[in-house]
Amino acid sequence: MRGSWRVGRIAGIEVGIHYTWLLALFIFTWLLGQGFSTTYPGWYTYFYWIAGFLATFTLFICVLIHELAHSLVARSRGLAVSSITLFILGGVSNLAEEPANPGVEFVMAIVGPLTSLVLGFIFWIIWYVITRTWVLPVFSVHIPAGKQTLGLAIAGFLAYTNIALAIFNLLPGFPLDGGRVFRSIIWRATGNLYKATNIASIIGRVFGWGFILAGVVLAIFTRFGFLNGLWFIFVGWFLNSAADNSSLEVTLKEHLSGVLVAQIMEKDIETVRPDTTIDYLVQTIFVQKRKRAVPVVENETLVGVITISDIKTLPPEKWPVTPVLQVMHREPIHAVKPEDDLNMAMKLMAQYDLNQIPVLTQGKLVGMLTRADVINYLQLSQELHIKGRNKTNPPGSAGKP
Ligand SMILES: [Zn+2]
Repeated sequence: MRGSWRVGRIAGIEVGIHYTWLLALFIFTWLLGQGFSTTYPGWYTYFYWIAGFLATFTLFICVLIHELAHSLVARSRGLAVSSITLFILGGVSNLAEEPANPGVEFVMAIVGPLTSLVLGFIFWIIWYVITRTWVLPVFSVHIPAGKQTLGLAIAGFLAYTNIALAIFNLLPGFPLDGGRVFRSIIWRATGNLYKATNIASIIGRVFGWGFILAGVVLAIFTRFGFLNGLWFIFVGWFLNSAADNSSLEVTLKEHLSGVLVAQIMEKDIETVRPDTTIDYLVQTIFVQKRKRAVPVVENETLVGVITISDIKTLPPEKWPVTPVLQVMHREPIHAVKPEDDLNMAMKLMAQYDLNQIPVLTQGKLVGMLTRADVINYLQLSQELHIKGRNKTNPPGSAGKP
């Protein structure tokens, strides 16, 4: 996630904090302090701040444990987990890849809410012990109001919130955990991940709009519901955009899988030689041919790629005397083959943040694939209703009219 800092590693998984998390820490501390002051009147003022802070901080630890449960199960099933990020609405586990079958997705998704349920239950037991006995001096800090204690307030809040989180996360709309559980069930039943994701995303959007509507009703029609209402609207908006993103991603994959690089790559490409001057490259290739990246070829072999950003730091007066060789990217050159699938090519471009990728056959450059080509293909396939996955005809066969 952009705008986050690494704070450490747990069991080999990197943990990061998004800047909105700090905002949440402050807002929740304040809101909870306010809440505690109505539920437990008579404390010293600073006690409400301490209680608010401790409750919020422990809640975030619980969210982290929930995410760790997802990540550790994912890793035990052979999926690479890159990191966990905490942000204003909780946590996300960043998986480097999606689960390969519905069984893995089911277990991975359900373990999160189960963890929250267990945590809620543990805090409920702590709360219960505090209400019945005074044997836990740590939690039984006496305060002027008598029986009510700091520990009681915090344990009660954490019991309630963890159970509420488990229930919220079990709602069957994608991308919530419940939506993933639901998707894995449809995926198992239909054998089609795309269809399953679409259905789960639609339900995710229904919940998203439901939250927004509930938020509006709360904000307008209840007496003290304004902040709660705003919160509901925010959560609803987040659910909607996350559902949109995941269905977009899947639609993209669906359109691109089965389409070969050879079908859309540019075959008639400009190349330069290692001894070509930067001046010539800029005037002829970048300005006149409107290219942003050019392969560098020597004796029909690709030796590098040169892009506009490579020459940005070179002062223009040096252009006539500098050969391409001096500024081009050399190793590693990421390339695809004509028979590769577009999904694979896009994945590679995303992974290394490339705008274009050379296409090679046995080391010989046969074409270039750019992001613009892929976007152009996507627009065309939408307009003409071409679906990538249905293109199972071998290249060269006529197909059905
Ligand atoms: Zn979860």
